[in-house]
This record gives sequence, C-alpha cells and structure tokens, in this order.
Amino acid sequence: MNLKPTIIIIEDEKTICNFIETTLTAHDYKVVTAGSGQEGLSLITSCFPDLILLDLGLPDIDGLEIIRQVREWSMIPIIVISARSREQEKVLALDSGCDDYITKPFGTSELLARIRTALRHHQQAGGALNKSEPVYVFEDLTIDFTRRLVLLKGKEIHLTQIEYKLVSLLAKNSGRVLTYDYIINHIWGPYADNNNNQILRVNMAHIRRKLETNPAEPRYIFTEIGVGYRMRESQGISE
Ligand code: CA
Repeated sequence: MNLKPTIIIIEDEKTICNFIETTLTAHDYKVVTAGSGQEGLSLITSCFPDLILLDLGLPDIDGLEIIRQVREWSMIPIIVISARSREQEKVLALDSGCDDYITKPFGTSELLARIRTALRHHQQAGGALNKSEPVYVFEDLTIDFTRRLVLLKGKEIHLTQIEYKLVSLLAKNSGRVLTYDYIINHIWGPYADNNNNQILRVNMAHIRRKLETNPAEPRYIFTEIGVGYRMRESQGISE
C-alpha cells in the first residue's frame, strides 16, 4: 500500500486553484479543493489531509482564523499562499501556526520544494514526539509506519486511507485503550458530528474483516465496550 499524500487547497481564485491542482496531481499528490473557508474547514475534518495549502484572503473566513482553528486540534502542516506580501502578514500567519508562507506569484518548483520540506519536517517532528518504534509487530501482523505497509503473514493488506489512519493510531498506542472521542478527535477533528461514532464503528468492522481470521474473536484489536478500542501491545522488533 503506497498512499499518496493528500493535500487540501483552500483558495477562492479559480485559476490559481486549478493551476495548483494540476501541478500537484501531476506530481503524484492527491488533491482536494475548497473555494471558501467553511468548505475548507469541513473538508479538513472529513479528508484528514497530510498538508493544507491556504489562501489568506477568502470570501467568508480570514485565512488566519482557519489556521487558529486547525491548530487547536491538529499539527497538519499548513502552507499559506497569499498575495499579501508585507512582513507583518507573514509574521501573523506564522504566529498563528502555519508552517511556511509562499507569496503569489510563485513558481512550480518552489511550491513543490516547500511542500516536500513541510511534509518531511512534520514526519520528523512526529517521530521525535512519538517515541514508538517505526514498526508494529504482533504475531502474524506487521505494520511499517514509515512505508505505510500493513502485512498479515507477510502479505500486504489493502486498507483505505481512514482505515490505515485508525490502525496506525491504535498501533502506535498499542496496549492502551483509546476512547471513541480520542480516536474521533484524532481522525476527524473536534468539528466531527455525531455521525462519526457510527462511521468509526463501520470502519472498525471493515478493518477487522481484513485483519482478523474471526472478527467475533479478535486477536489484534479489542473493543472496550462503551469506552473505545485497544490494540494488542506490540512485540517490538528484534534488532
Ligand atoms: Ca483570495
């Protein structure tokens, strides 16, 4: 499983939005676009992107406000794309928590380089904060977080983006019970509505069908009724 990084573009100028979308798609990114701040915020919670490209001048919400809202619950890399070139604006955007800033007009190679850097920094920061090993292993199940690979008896298991995020969240916290709210907050964000409980259950059922020989008697992921889920503690890797 080699998942393309997902990038959300929040930009109300259609020509710029289309240009960036075409560029990123050609460079093997999955792209989702939003023409307004509200649409952007709801897409962020539903698509769980790897990176956000954000225009500051949007018709409904100021881009800075979007940064602040996202930063309340997520460290997803945010690169601001804006016509505003004054230092003060850049400082404000960076202080609000964006990772980088690119001023229009910009070249394709500059944009791609900024994106690669932001994604790499984010991965490294996550690695430093989270001391867990780069691989989860228990009996027949192996998850390689770096390569985003899930193997069962050495065979690759195909998971959707959300399924992989759920499994890797549980695996990185293996041995711990994660509450429904904690999981929903991490996967969909706090703007998630009540439907997410149901969506979570459905996704977990799909994951179990793919990973467990007998989903009724799970070996890897357990339900803590009324609380959440717990993944069997990793046996770790032998060096
Ligand atoms: Ca604009």
